[in-house]
Amino acid sequence: MKVFDVAIIGGGVIGSSIALELAAEKLNIVLLDREDPGRGASWAAAGMLSPGPDSPEALPLVPLAKESLRLYPQFVAAVEEASGLHTHFASEGALQIFSGAQGELERSKMIAEFRALDIAIEPVPIETARNMETAIGPAADAVAWLPGEATVDPRLLMDALLAALRHHEVEIRSGCNVTSLLRQDTRCTGLVAGGEEIAAKIVVLAAGCHSSALAGENSIENGWLSRYAPTRPIRGQMLALHSAEVNLGRVLRSERGYLVPRLDGRIVAGSTLENVGFEKRVTAGGMRKILDAAIELAPNLAGAEIVEMWAGLRPGTPDHLPILGPADVEGLFIATGHYRNGILLAPVTAKLVRDWILNKKMPTAAANFSPLRFSERRAQTSAS
Ligand SMILES: Cc1cc2nc3c(=O)[nH]c(=O)nc-3n(C[C@H](O)[C@H](O)[C@H](O)COP(=O)(O)OP(=O)(O)OC[C@H]3O[C@@H](n4cnc5c(N)ncnc54)[C@H](O)[C@@H]3O)c2cc1C
Repeated sequence: MKVFDVAIIGGGVIGSSIALELAAEKLNIVLLDREDPGRGASWAAAGMLSPGPDSPEALPLVPLAKESLRLYPQFVAAVEEASGLHTHFASEGALQIFSGAQGELERSKMIAEFRALDIAIEPVPIETARNMETAIGPAADAVAWLPGEATVDPRLLMDALLAALRHHEVEIRSGCNVTSLLRQDTRCTGLVAGGEEIAAKIVVLAAGCHSSALAGENSIENGWLSRYAPTRPIRGQMLALHSAEVNLGRVLRSERGYLVPRLDGRIVAGSTLENVGFEKRVTAGGMRKILDAAIELAPNLAGAEIVEMWAGLRPGTPDHLPILGPADVEGLFIATGHYRNGILLAPVTAKLVRDWILNKKMPTAAANFSPLRFSERRAQTSAS
C-alpha cells in the first residue's frame, strides 16, 4: 500500500495552507475533503486580518495573530506566484467607529488596551475619518484608526490556494468523507475515507467545525477524537451589497457589525454569532441585525442592492482558542478550532505544523493551544 508522508483531513484555509507549506518541503501529501475543498467556513468569511482581541478570552491569541499578520505578505506572494491568481490582499487599515455618550471613553479604553499589546492604533477626529471614508454616518461619535490591519478576499484566496496545491502536485481528493483514523497500538497510521484505507506517516486533523464529529455524532471514534478537538459550529450570517453611492476603501467596524470592501465593488457586511448546531440557514432576524449595523455605519447603504446572503459555520471551541499541536497518539496532529480568526491565522498555523513535522518543535507559547488541554482540565476538575 502507498504510504503518504502526510494525510490532511479538511481542505479549508487551514488544511490547504498546511498542505502548501509541506508541499514546498517536497513531502508527499494527500488532502481529503468530503465536499469540494474551500466551501466551508473559509468560503463564508469576511477576510479581515485583525490581530486585536475581541474579548478578554482572546488575549492569549494576540502574539500568534500578530505573527500571522506579519507573515501574510509572503504567504500571499507564495500562493499568488504558484497559482498565477490574485487574492485581493490589501493593507489599507481599518476604522473603528464608536457611538453614543460613552463613545470617547470606549475608544480611549481600546487605544490603551491595544497599545499595551503593541498593536498600532490612533484616535482620529471625525472630520479626518470622513475625509478617509465619506460613507461614515452621523452615529459616529469617536473614531480610532488601525493602520496595520489588512484584508484578503477569502474566496479568491481559496481558489488561489487550491490552484497552488495543484501546481505543487498535491493529491486533492474531493467528495472524500473521512470516517475514522487507523491506529496501531499507540500510533496513528492513516485514515479511512469512503471505505478505503489510506496509510500515512502523519495525519493532520483540520476539518473545521466537523473535527469532533468525523463519523457522525455518537460514534465511538468521536468520543475519542473529541477529547482532542471538541469543536462546535458557531453560525455567522453575512450579506453582500452593491451601491452606486457608497465607495469604501477600507474596513469600517463598530461593536454591532462591519463592512469590508471587495475588489469587484461589492461591500460585504456581517455578522452574527449563533450557537444553533450544524444549521446554515440565513434568517430574517440575522439579516435585520446585519443591515441595521451596516446602515448605521454608512447610511447611504439604505438604497444599496442586496446581491447575496449566506451563512457559514465557524469552528468554535470551549475556550474560544484554536487547537494546535500533537495529540498523545504518535503521528496525529490537530489544527482546528480557529473560530473567528482562521483566515488570519492560516500562515502561522501552517508554519507551526511544518516546524513540528520537520523538527518536532513547538514554540513554548503554543502550550495555550495544545489539544491535550481539555482532558488535562477534566482530570484536574475530577481530582479536586
Ligand atoms: C461569517 C464568518 C465570518 C468570518 N470572518 C473572518 C474574518 O474576517 N477573518 C478571519 O480570520 N476569520 C473569519 N472567519 C473565521 C474563518 O472563516 C474560520 O476560522 C476558518 O475558515 C476555518 O478554516 P478551516 O479550514 O478550519 O475550516 P473550513 O473552512 O470549514 O474547512 C474544513 C473542511 O473540512 C471538510 N471536512 C469536514 N469533515 C470532513 C470529513 N469527515 N472528511 C473530509 N473532510 C471533511 C469540510 O468539508 C471543509 O471543507 C469567519 C467565519 C465566518 C463563518
